[in-house]
Amino acid sequence: MSEKRIPVTGGCLCGAIRYEVTDPPFDGGYCHCKTCRKAYGGLFGVWLGFKRAGFRITKGELRFYRTSELAQRGFCETCGSPVMYAYDGSEGYGINAGSLDHPEDWPLMDGTSFGHGFVDSKVPWHTIDDELPRYPQGTKHHDAALDRADGSDQRD
Ligand SMILES: [Zn+2]
Ligand SMILES: [Zn+2]
Repeated sequence: MSEKRIPVTGGCLCGAIRYEVTDPPFDGGYCHCKTCRKAYGGLFGVWLGFKRAGFRITKGELRFYRTSELAQRGFCETCGSPVMYAYDGSEGYGINAGSLDHPEDWPLMDGTSFGHGFVDSKVPWHTIDDELPRYPQGTKHHDAALDRADGSDQRD
């Protein structure tokens, strides 16, 4: 594989929002919850976790929509592209993998991913075809936040 590009760069579809991250992702995963489905406009969400400290917006300004008591999601108000997921009080951001300029640099494999969260909510005609761990509800990542909120709602 070619060298991984650091800083990691990305942005929205129209280019109004651009960001840069100085550190590689520390985790990532797939989320099959209904909220992610709607927020991404896809069958599931795919995110990479980056430390907030290394992340900065280099162009434009994200708008945020609060999708639950736990988190809000950042998007471009011009083109509507979803860009990130921010748990309240977390040290990381979940950056939508598809917003990276080079998502091919950071494949979600064993050791770099929590796997699939909320598979109980998965769209039935979509088949997961990898060997990553599967969690009926949240991933470990999600569970920590759910514990904090003592919620049992299967959404984030
Ligand atoms: Zn845009
Ligand atoms: Zn989700």
